[in-house]
Amino acid sequence: MNVALIGPTCAGKTTCATLLGDAFPLRHLSTGQVLRENQAQRTALGILTRKYVERGELVPDEVINAMIEEAVRKLPPEEGILLDGFPSTLYQARFLEELFKETNRQLDAVVFMPIPEPVVFARAARRIPSRPDDRPEILHRRLQQFQRTVGPVIGHYRQAGRLAFLEASGSIDAVCAALTPVFEDLRRRQPPPALTADQQRFLDEFLREKTPDKSATPQPSLDLVVMGPPGSGKGTHSAFLATQFKLPHIATGNLFRENMDDGTVLGKIARTYIDRGELVPDDVSEAMVRERLARADTHEGYVLDGFPRTLPQAKALDEIMADLNRKLDRILYLAVPDEDVVARISGRWLCPICQTPYHLVHNPPRKPGQCDKDGSALYQRDDDTAETIRARLKVFHGQTVPVIEYYRQAGLVVEVPATGAVAEVDQALLQVVQQTPRR
Ligand SMILES: [Zn+2]
Repeated sequence: MNVALIGPTCAGKTTCATLLGDAFPLRHLSTGQVLRENQAQRTALGILTRKYVERGELVPDEVINAMIEEAVRKLPPEEGILLDGFPSTLYQARFLEELFKETNRQLDAVVFMPIPEPVVFARAARRIPSRPDDRPEILHRRLQQFQRTVGPVIGHYRQAGRLAFLEASGSIDAVCAALTPVFEDLRRRQPPPALTADQQRFLDEFLREKTPDKSATPQPSLDLVVMGPPGSGKGTHSAFLATQFKLPHIATGNLFRENMDDGTVLGKIARTYIDRGELVPDDVSEAMVRERLARADTHEGYVLDGFPRTLPQAKALDEIMADLNRKLDRILYLAVPDEDVVARISGRWLCPICQTPYHLVHNPPRKPGQCDKDGSALYQRDDDTAETIRARLKVFHGQTVPVIEYYRQAGLVVEVPATGAVAEVDQALLQVVQQTPRR
């Protein structure tokens, strides 16, 4: 008995193949493993394939065919094979049929294991250890390519009556449990179960040739950007809005740290600049934002804080949103006069032990200069001095105010005076966002 599992990345093919391969037993033959071994050993083939994978493209057929052929010819014909991720093109399917004929085998069934794209993203985000190519922008392109190349394979085996269908969004255990009776039937030389009407409809859609449709209706969501000078409380107010509307709060400062702490590809790239004491280039932060906004948890919308700060970044965000088939809904501009900014920031004091922030005017400690919680002597950050703040304000007026103008011309900006108490500003923002239609 010879079976092939076909599904997009993160469908759980490899885990299923390992479990079912042990249970039946079948020799598990995985394209991914063969590829990764070649890459880890840095063979010429491995180096070549990495370039394709990093671009989100599949490795050329002939390269994989050669690896698979080598592996299959090593096995005695009576030993059953469970292929995982192969064949993934029509050319590979024909190659496999030829190879199996020569080695006295027959492919009894192909199991198609589709999962929705958001599930792919969510699973990839949780994958441990994470892989350099688990980025959504790579995954998205990979899924599109998967559909284009695997579609004809699926059509081929459907026509031949050898296609089994299993929606693989469930747990690995559930998927394996569902596949076990199918495998038992195949072992008894019975054909795979007939496809249901729903599965036929899904396949019709999956096999339909897609043409890029720019006029597709955007998915309604609440996509907000919070802007303002330093010290305007962007972080605090963004967090409030995110909680109120159950949206992720995406602060670019945190995004940077997450990427570096998690050792993502982008984080590692950023780290090389930081270690050299250089500014991280715009395209790296743009890529981090692009990656973050493509994750499944932003489907209902998001509150973006700290991006864009420059006009080129604003243009990049336009492009990211267009690629996501979405539109920005509102730019919330927290307006604070310069002199208030200076007063606010220069009044900030911090506890060195528990990090509690205090403000000389708005939130003073009970005893001057001492933390309420642990009595530590409070200190002021180097960049919270009046001189530094004036320099930051200059950058804000030079770089970020033109961005606000840019959005104002697009009719997206609502200016909210942010000089009052935090709760008052929150309420004003709440009203604005409640009146913002999702689009
Ligand atoms: Zn303290």
